[in-house]
Amino acid sequence: MTISKIIDSDIAAAAKRLIDNSRRTVITCHKTPDGDAIGSSLGLAAVLADGKRQVHVITPDTPPRNLHFLPGFDNVVIASRFTEKARCLLANADLVFCLDYNSLQRIDRLQPLVEASTAPRIMIDHHLDPEPIAAVTISHPEVSSTCALLYHFLYETGMSGMVDRAAAECIYTGMLTDTGNFSYNSNDPDLYLIIARLLETGMNKDEIYTRVWNTNSSNRLRICGYAIYRKMQLIPEHSMALITLTREELNEFDYVKGDTESLVNQPLSIPGVVWSVFMREDEPDFVKVSTRSVGEFPVNIVCEDLFGGGGHRNAAGGEFHGSLAAAVDFLMSHAGDYDGALPESQENKENKQ
Ligand code: 5GP
Ligand code: MN
Repeated sequence: MTISKIIDSDIAAAAKRLIDNSRRTVITCHKTPDGDAIGSSLGLAAVLADGKRQVHVITPDTPPRNLHFLPGFDNVVIASRFTEKARCLLANADLVFCLDYNSLQRIDRLQPLVEASTAPRIMIDHHLDPEPIAAVTISHPEVSSTCALLYHFLYETGMSGMVDRAAAECIYTGMLTDTGNFSYNSNDPDLYLIIARLLETGMNKDEIYTRVWNTNSSNRLRICGYAIYRKMQLIPEHSMALITLTREELNEFDYVKGDTESLVNQPLSIPGVVWSVFMREDEPDFVKVSTRSVGEFPVNIVCEDLFGGGGHRNAAGGEFHGSLAAAVDFLMSHAGDYDGALPESQENKENKQ
């Protein structure tokens, strides 16, 4: 079995030409980078940094701590801390990659800096409805991670031989995190053909699992335990679960970014819960919304409609400008609008009785 060819050859060739002609490449990813965003960025950087060109990865803000182990992380330019350096690199770039995002709004403070650059852009992404922001758009929403799509691209343009162990670790991390350790969106045989090739570089996949998932701080365990024990509401009439955390609660547990990562997934393990919402009061009058679902229920639509956001059918997010109480009221007043998207399974029928 060989890895399928999925990218249009003209599009792949156009991207390859831009790469070959680039001497100052900048790779960007979305704000609050997850494993797929930072993994694809560092993976691509490791492949392209061949001595012929300068390659820099710029993130809008700091990735969570459990991803700092990734090879090359120490060289990442975090724009929220090194704005001038980010501006300078983008102003001098002759090629800009947009990885794991489909709209410049997703890169927050980086948006004006990327817009100011005259360099051509290449988008490699798997979110629905890419905006026309790149000279070359490689958009495949059917692929479970940008990292897997990146490998397809490298494979189809003859660059996969340059994937060394460092690049493999980065690419594997995004494949792992965007599929919940290969527990959803993970039936594509190509994923496992790609993993086989990554393992041939000497990559230790078991170690990556441990670094990514088994690195809890005591605060993280306590805040998640508290959130589930005291703050999880089940709303059976909408087959929904809701967890909220106020600023006071976050402060009480010395919350740092990443501490509530994947908390929103937990309620989905309860039979009958089809969608799960987590609201975190990050600032006074600013609530970050995270949603997950199982099956066909489209949380990306909910986030688009209600929270100016989006994402994937089963994992999406957005924002609410106002108090946490107002965010909850707003959600609850609209939750019923999506009852039509709930499956009419026996479990759900029972739940509603
Ligand atoms: P998370 O809940 O892990 O923060 O985000 C899950 C997914 O939802 C992300 O991979 C991203 O696709 C999407 N997402 C999260 N927040 C936002 C947002 O504010 N706007 C948009 N458009 N998508 C988001
Ligand atoms: Mn992704």
